[in-house]
Amino acid sequence: MINFEHYVRAQSFQEAYELNQEFQNVVGGGMMWLHLSNASYKTYIDLCDLGLGEIKEEEDTIQIGAMVTLSQLLNSSLLREYYGDVFEECIKHIVGVQFQNMATLGGSIMAKLAFSDLITLLLPLDPVLEFHKQGEVKLSEFLKQKNQRDILKFIYLPKQKHKMAFVSMRKNYTDLPVLNLCGLKTEDGILYAVGARPNIAVLVREDEGVTFGKNPRGSKEYREHLYPILKQRIQNALEVAE
Ligand SMILES: Cc1cc2nc3c(=O)[nH]c(=O)nc-3n(C[C@H](O)[C@H](O)[C@H](O)COP(=O)(O)OP(=O)(O)OC[C@H]3O[C@@H](n4cnc5c(N)ncnc54)[C@H](O)[C@@H]3O)c2cc1C
Repeated sequence: MINFEHYVRAQSFQEAYELNQEFQNVVGGGMMWLHLSNASYKTYIDLCDLGLGEIKEEEDTIQIGAMVTLSQLLNSSLLREYYGDVFEECIKHIVGVQFQNMATLGGSIMAKLAFSDLITLLLPLDPVLEFHKQGEVKLSEFLKQKNQRDILKFIYLPKQKHKMAFVSMRKNYTDLPVLNLCGLKTEDGILYAVGARPNIAVLVREDEGVTFGKNPRGSKEYREHLYPILKQRIQNALEVAE
């Protein structure tokens, strides 16, 4: 069971950042992933007082706070207006409603889980992530970085209507994905993010190859077999969305 000696509700990003520089301290989002560990920490840093729980429409971007939950993303009419139903298609498979009410966008990005459906969904849009110390970093760059112990504050999505589709293969409705794909229609054809390969998601164009591997959820050969099928489903969905 996870343990903390102290609980701090940070009153500024600087306070949260400074506390997070100590290796025995940890910052939490919804704690759904974190609480599975057996670690003992000195201080749990809660960001709930820092105004990170909203999805806001700005002039050119949509700003989403790091503490926004998966349920907020799934139910957002603003996100649906600009990106169609991809947030719902992606999030509805993640465990269940009570879980989605707790797990956060920030935790989902910072955990860099290779099977993450949300990272695969966001990658074709390559949103800007705003950190307290580093400032703005593109998601694609962040995925290549080592842990900076920074505090993620917001992500910014481009406020343009996009034609997108998300599909995944899982052994049952709420299992972890064996493979997930997101497609974004661009002037140069479809841009795909391919995740749960089982490595972290990568971006590819129609004619580019992707490498697959094995893990307990599926073999390399099974993923190679699934890939063109899921790609076809994305293409069908995007044609329907014309
Ligand atoms: C049983 C289970 C099944 C799951 N199934 C799926 C699935 O099918 N598909 C899928 O995509 N995902 C799945 N997930 C992952 C889930 O959707 C979340 O991505 C995950 O729980 C992390 O979100 P959280 O808010 O719980 O983060 P936490 O557990 O609170 O934190 C995760 C990490 O992020 C750090 N962190 C959190 N917020 C910040 C911040 N603002 N700044 C800096 N660091 C921060 C924490 O220190 C920690 O290292 C599953 C998780 C579990 C536990």
